[in-house]
Amino acid sequence: MPTYKNNLEVLIKQDLKQGMGLIDHEQTESFHVWKFRGGSTNIYEENSVYYESNDNQPNKKYLVKVNKQGNQYEIMLVQPTFIVVKDIKSVSGSEYPIMANSIIRLGRVEYRVIEERNKQMQITYAEVKNQESLQQNDINKIYQCRFCFMEGKQSRDQLFLTNICRCVGNSQAVHLECMRYWVDSNITREETQFGLSLKWNKQHECSICKQTLPVRVQYENEYFDLFTLERPQFQYILIENVNKEKNVFGEIYLIHALLQDNIKLGRGLQCDIKVQDITVSRHHATIKLSQDNFVIEDNKSKFGTLVSINKICYLDCISCTLQIGKLLINLIQTDYIHKGAPSTQHKLTQLPQISKQLEEDEPQMDDDSFQLENQ
Ligand SMILES: [Zn+2]
Ligand SMILES: [Zn+2]
Repeated sequence: MPTYKNNLEVLIKQDLKQGMGLIDHEQTESFHVWKFRGGSTNIYEENSVYYESNDNQPNKKYLVKVNKQGNQYEIMLVQPTFIVVKDIKSVSGSEYPIMANSIIRLGRVEYRVIEERNKQMQITYAEVKNQESLQQNDINKIYQCRFCFMEGKQSRDQLFLTNICRCVGNSQAVHLECMRYWVDSNITREETQFGLSLKWNKQHECSICKQTLPVRVQYENEYFDLFTLERPQFQYILIENVNKEKNVFGEIYLIHALLQDNIKLGRGLQCDIKVQDITVSRHHATIKLSQDNFVIEDNKSKFGTLVSINKICYLDCISCTLQIGKLLINLIQTDYIHKGAPSTQHKLTQLPQISKQLEEDEPQMDDDSFQLENQ
């Protein structure tokens, strides 16, 4: 891992125009910008005003906590945060690895990596939600399958789905195998240059209560799919379209390491994974294998390609941008502070409470504190 620079510049940009939690990445100059430099700090937001403090403020929620650990900056986050793929500047370019649990956002369309087999052949499953975890509190209870009417007790070999929808009483339980047979009959499978696509022909929902069904359940420590899919015996990822739009049916893509070409995602006809949404560009992003990892790259898309990041991450790039709601937080690691860098003081006046806060703080010259430019 390369060692990066001593100083960290933080710019906060805010898009005041777009709705739907989208930020127009082609129009960044319309954002309010706040900029400061230094080492470790906490950045807080209060009524759309941002300020930094080296002290912990236990009753306040921080946006970003930056902590220098040895040669690296550790970033801690409390809110769902995405990294803006096109803004990553690192030794390997502008790409970001995707792995189990990653949420990929193209415009307002979301995909989730639900399973991953890595180069070392280890399989990781995305976490399942509470209602997808089958209860086993009463091991003597007799269930009756609402599809085949056979009765039995809950067991690994004869698994009953018991709480996957809102149905209660007699129509509640159904054999996993019976459900899978029914779900499979609603799926169109297609071999692709990168693996396989599974597309639902109608909503993946309970035919009685209309509740959206999970694609996978957990019983004890095992995961069971509600659909049939044979996995390859080499590296792959499974990606699920988790779009909440009512007119989009389920989609799962199996992407394996023997892909013939990079995978294009977008609205255009030439794309391998087509996305019918106006917030998605014609060729929005590309998934490829890079140094034994599946990574995603942005292709100059209007609303950006975002990947969810963990609550604690390490800054192993020269610069990157985090998106939290409608905020963009740009982090840049620099060698030294440019004396002649353009002043942002005029911009600070747009957010008067910030400049007041910064003036009150005595600027310090060591690496572990922040200072206002040109002061
Ligand atoms: Zn059955
Ligand atoms: Zn139901």
